Amino acid sequence: MLNKTIQAVRDGQKFLVLAHEAPDGDALGSTLALVNALREMGKQATAFNADGVPEKLKFLPGSDQVVSRIDSSEFFDTVFVLDAGELRRVRLDVRPICTTLVNVDHHPFSEDFGDIYYVDTEASATAAMLYRVLKGLNYSFSTAVALCIYTAIISDTGSFRYSSANSEAFAVAGEMVAAGVDPWLVAGELYESQEVERLQLLGLALTTLKVFAGGQCATMYVTEQMFAEVGAIAELADSFVNYPRSINGVEVAMFLRQTSTTSFKLSMRSKGTVDVGALARELGGGGHHNAAGAEMIGTIDEVLQTTIERIEPLLTVAV
Ligand code: 5GP
Ligand code: MN
Repeated sequence: MLNKTIQAVRDGQKFLVLAHEAPDGDALGSTLALVNALREMGKQATAFNADGVPEKLKFLPGSDQVVSRIDSSEFFDTVFVLDAGELRRVRLDVRPICTTLVNVDHHPFSEDFGDIYYVDTEASATAAMLYRVLKGLNYSFSTAVALCIYTAIISDTGSFRYSSANSEAFAVAGEMVAAGVDPWLVAGELYESQEVERLQLLGLALTTLKVFAGGQCATMYVTEQMFAEVGAIAELADSFVNYPRSINGVEVAMFLRQTSTTSFKLSMRSKGTVDVGALARELGGGGHHNAAGAEMIGTIDEVLQTTIERIEPLLTVAV
């Protein structure tokens, strides 16, 4: 499928590139890596994200040209859906507006949509797969494209801390540094440029922190009221789940972000023994063994109860 994906880049002239909503560094880094590379090859390429670009990813080249609307009369010969897991997560009906649909993804059980289905669950990031595609085209990496790929790999490997940080992740990142990426610049943008509202929101969220199941599971949440109280937007709660995960003895961490009066976005993290991806799929969502998510309906108490009830037996087995 790598070869078919390479061929799709060769054959196409007018591309649309998009990734999942609420984009993280891999979703947007992958989108912009491909769009910038396509443009350098003299092709026409549009970057789309339903939620636009989060503040902390605005340093990525081309992020100012990411659109959140596509006219239904537009037509593309090739559409690349990246890092999506499920097609619905791009929030755009892409089928009617293209000839060839390509799914490039590293999520386990990535939905089998697309004329070309290039999925590799061993890849550290979707961007590492795009690196292979671009290599296959004998593309010579510009600093702009290298910056997008490097940022995507840093994001999805937790700065090379997760077990997804395989030798390819290090090798590709090294090559991107050789192509001109400054690691401190990326770290500065990702980790040393927080909005004060994010820390204020974190303060409120930490008051909800609970540890149970003999210390193996920790939960934390933010409500719409907390967002309003500090004047924060949804993206500022990104990676809050890392705080409950960081507790000594915690195997599974859960973070809930309220999305409407009766719905929450669930983020789960595992330190390895529990497959939270499998649990997320049972809950109608998806993700990886150690990082997964789902949409949950109910009040905070109901949603917490549902998820805790499902996690507890898994922890008992894991012990
Ligand atoms: P996060 O908790 O950072 O939002 O997501 C963790 C991982 O699970 C990411 O790889 C993300 O793409 C995936 N994920 C989160 N929510 C969903 C969902 O509703 N469906 C699917 N298929 N994957 C999800
Ligand atoms: Mn990813």
